Amino acid sequence: MSPANFDFHCHSTVSDGLMPPQEVAARAAANGVDCWALTDHDDLGGLAAARTTAEELGLRFYNGVEISIEWNEIPIHIVGLGFNAEQPELVNGLTDLRSGRLERARRMGDALAAIGIPGVFEGARALVTNPQLISRAHFARYLVSIGIAPDTSGVFQHYLVPGKPGYVTHRWVSLADALGWIHAAGGVAVVAHPGRYRMSGGEMRRFLDEFHDLGGQAIEVMSGSHSPDHVLHFARLARHYAFHASRGSDFHGVKESYVDLGRLPQLPQDLKPVWRLLQ
Ligand code: AMP
Ligand code: MN
Ligand code: MN
Ligand code: MN
Repeated sequence: MSPANFDFHCHSTVSDGLMPPQEVAARAAANGVDCWALTDHDDLGGLAAARTTAEELGLRFYNGVEISIEWNEIPIHIVGLGFNAEQPELVNGLTDLRSGRLERARRMGDALAAIGIPGVFEGARALVTNPQLISRAHFARYLVSIGIAPDTSGVFQHYLVPGKPGYVTHRWVSLADALGWIHAAGGVAVVAHPGRYRMSGGEMRRFLDEFHDLGGQAIEVMSGSHSPDHVLHFARLARHYAFHASRGSDFHGVKESYVDLGRLPQLPQDLKPVWRLLQ
């Protein structure tokens, strides 16, 4: 059966979301989502609970993850869908990937202390819900709580993006490794929110060429991070590469996300929805 409302990108307290997996599942169901994947950053710890609640509520559920990679020194996110969450290459790869986050967070704290905002590492660490998964979102929440900016997007804009004082570079995993793990576990790789990366048109095409050559099969066309122009642009690229198309809110929490679970427009009709690739 074709889903009427699939949402394949969102977060729980297992990474930097604000609700536990069971609550995210319940909210997806309440919003009319009928086919769902939880995609926490670099961690599979929420999938079992998400699946149990989702299936109790009658949703079709797929395992998901959002893997942090770097390509040409640009941080990029790759969503994996429909994989075996016990596959050792994937599980061990993600464990390694998470292990760098704490040291990166310390460096972010040092960088912010150097511009006169001390104690941010400790403040952000007090907000984490998974000790292995401190993210820039926790820094942003802490900086809002001490009045540095009125909301998290303001904090990102002024402190946490490349070129701003709290941003530090970090070695994430390569595109080839991330796709290798997803494929070893029998999953489908999807480029997350392609409209968010600072890339020229030529760079984006080189990136998508590589992603395609490594067996990548889909890109997010409809995303909580995309403007209507992004949707048109990435729909064209999906057709050009014969990629399947995904749709995901990137919901993190009620006060933080512009787009709620399942509350985004349908994909353009001629695109191949990514759920067709999943069993
Ligand atoms: P990290 O994986 O630690 O680099 O953190 C990335 C996370 O920060 C994303 O998944 C979002 O939750 C959040 N984030 C990134 N950019 C922004 C932004 N401009 N506004 C709000 N949240 C953002
Ligand atoms: Mn996040
Ligand atoms: Mn992302
Ligand atoms: Mn995300």
